[in-house]
Amino acid sequence: MTICFIGLGANLGDSRATLQAAIESLAQLQGTQLVACSSFFCSAPIQAEGDDFCNAVVQLETTLEAHPLLAAMQQIEHDFGRQRPYPNAPRTLDLDLLLYGREQIDSPSLQVPHPRLTGRAFVLHPLLQLCPTLDIPGLGPAHAFLPAVSAQVIREMDSPH
Ligand code: AMP
Repeated sequence: MTICFIGLGANLGDSRATLQAAIESLAQLQGTQLVACSSFFCSAPIQAEGDDFCNAVVQLETTLEAHPLLAAMQQIEHDFGRQRPYPNAPRTLDLDLLLYGREQIDSPSLQVPHPRLTGRAFVLHPLLQLCPTLDIPGLGPAHAFLPAVSAQVIREMDSPH
């Protein structure tokens, strides 16, 4: 079993309902259990268009290897009707594999830790909510990256559960 963290984001349609349903889909993946889910956060788009984003992070335990897990995540994105008409278009659902155990992966289709993990408040805050002492493989304590994202405005919404 490997502990992994997945970031979820949506800014089209009923974003909150989409995240809730996507979390249920992730929890139902083969060999996978939901360990914990962060609060939902609301954030202004960064290098993207459209309405504010709804974001969350989930912690899963899975027997899936990293690449099959990414493929399953992309299938869920597809199931939720995600289209890529142009780069950074508004999206019904975006799933990012943030961390996969202590692995560092640098393949053409998958980089873990996720390359934009440390530069985004909407990822760091929910991650640290789930794991306050989180150490990012190859990069160090997650909380050390908070000062650099302090200008990014995010708002914590109600807990999803
Ligand atoms: P996006 O448009 O932000 O959903 O990016 C999707 C692309 O990023 C896909 O081609 C993935 O193969 C690639 N990718 C690389 N690393 C990751 C990761 N850690 N999590 C999700 N997608 C990733």
